[in-house]
Amino acid sequence: MRIGIGYDSHRIEPGGTMLLGGVAIEHGRHFVGHSDADVLLHAITDALLSAAGLPDIGQLFPNDMPENRGRDSAEMLSLAMANVRQSGWDLVNLDCVVLLEHPKISPIKSQVLARIAAVLEVPESLVNLKGKTGEGVGEVGRGELAVAHCVALLTRV
Ligand code: MG
Repeated sequence: MRIGIGYDSHRIEPGGTMLLGGVAIEHGRHFVGHSDADVLLHAITDALLSAAGLPDIGQLFPNDMPENRGRDSAEMLSLAMANVRQSGWDLVNLDCVVLLEHPKISPIKSQVLARIAAVLEVPESLVNLKGKTGEGVGEVGRGELAVAHCVALLTRV
């Protein structure tokens, strides 16, 4: 077995649609980034690639390439998972933490888990997600930043 850790953060700005775990949240704010800025999917992508010993998300999808501007992170995750499987690994489980002041994760958790499982083509039982706030302190607490951590465990097929 092999374990990998993924981390990402994106700035939050007013307007637009927030994309978290491949789910669109109409919250009057959005994550800012070169791709669609889905902070959770980016952390998951890096955890999976890292566990398999593959190049990371920035190497696979460089942000100076025009085709990656506004790119669908679910598509990037799906491609990364295909690389992981081609390298002879399969997913044991994923554990994720999102640090986000607003909105709360719990009301959208089941929707996000279902979406991640669908993108990865794995049962939902392999994916876990927890939401935390910044307790009103720091960049997360002021609603300026979203952070995601993910740990992935893989097993040799
Ligand atoms: Mg990112």
